[in-house]
Amino acid sequence: MTETPPPRRARAEIDLGALRANVRTLRARVAPHVRIMAVVKADAYGHGAVRCARAALDAGADWLGTATPHEALALRAAGITDVPVMCWLWTPGDPWDRGIEAGLDMSVSGLWALEEVVEAARATGGTARIQLKADTGLGRNGCQPADWPELVERALKAQAEGLVEVTGLWSHFACADEPHHPSIAAQLDVFRSMLDHAEKAGVRPEVRHIANSPATLTLPEAHFDLVRPGIAMYGVSPSPELGTSAELGLRPVMSLKASVALVKRVPAGHGVSYGHHYVTGTETTLGLVPLGYADGVPRHASGRGPVLVDGTVRTVAGRVAMDQFVVDLGGEEPAPGTEAVLFGPGDGGEPTAEDWAVAADTIAYEIVTRIGARVPRVYLGE
Ligand SMILES: *Cc1c(COP(=O)(O)O)cnc(C)c1O
Repeated sequence: MTETPPPRRARAEIDLGALRANVRTLRARVAPHVRIMAVVKADAYGHGAVRCARAALDAGADWLGTATPHEALALRAAGITDVPVMCWLWTPGDPWDRGIEAGLDMSVSGLWALEEVVEAARATGGTARIQLKADTGLGRNGCQPADWPELVERALKAQAEGLVEVTGLWSHFACADEPHHPSIAAQLDVFRSMLDHAEKAGVRPEVRHIANSPATLTLPEAHFDLVRPGIAMYGVSPSPELGTSAELGLRPVMSLKASVALVKRVPAGHGVSYGHHYVTGTETTLGLVPLGYADGVPRHASGRGPVLVDGTVRTVAGRVAMDQFVVDLGGEEPAPGTEAVLFGPGDGGEPTAEDWAVAADTIAYEIVTRIGARVPRVYLGE
């Protein structure tokens, strides 16, 4: 049997050279003692976790970070065994024992998690590397200041028994992408006082950390021992307020491309796609782009999303469907198979993920992260 050839329909090109350059740019933005944790959760924001993890480590990242334990275990299973890997989104019943065996740094936000990890340490005979997470004001995961003394005390007790080692103290910002938002200074104050309490109680963490991409780029006072950039590593600006990728010295890593599947001439007054929300004003040509919301093209960008076809940026005509959408080519007749670029770095005239975020009324994080599993990733610069 011969293998099915790779689909011509569409591809997400992942420029690992750009990713490495972005990591080096971030490296240059932090003091030499500050470690970089490359955040590769959600399949590296849709870019491919294992390859991006390896590229980030090549370029000088020191740690890897994921949300779920399963994501972290997958990195270990892929052979990434010689660097610390942290994961922070635990649910009761998750495999703490596997995390201990894999040497993961496991985040603990509350007593239920400490109890489960201690039980797993007893059962496996190992010592769990745990990092205590403080809720300094985000109001999401993490331990409230009022509950912190008890969590710290119980963690130190388990450490004295050799069941855990508290390797880190950490937190996460709510509004680091909004420069000068009053919550930033308030969270830093709370973080410092929670660190102070834990250290006075006897915790000697390897790393203390709170900075995501926007804080890595704009708040040196928030770098502590380690920074946790995600989106910046993928070359996407965390927010228009902080500037474009280029202004931040970053290069977008993902380009989403498709091959135009059909070009045809239609008369004036022709409805286009479900609901006929677009009707041709004159006789024109339509191009069929074989990507849809199953591939992560947001249906909210119906009638708005930009696409570069044959040198001109066109707009999605009518609704984005599950597998395809249409652009009005204004009478031009590019050959079927012509490349349509939904987004890329932007310097070849193509739109960017940020442009799609505006079109879909969302953030660029969501645009790249939601590109579906049906779109093959093609790696450049390996
Ligand atoms: C996703 C995430 C990050 C990375 O955030 P970016 O804004 O993409 O840099 C850092 N820390 C935690 C806890 C996260 O969940």
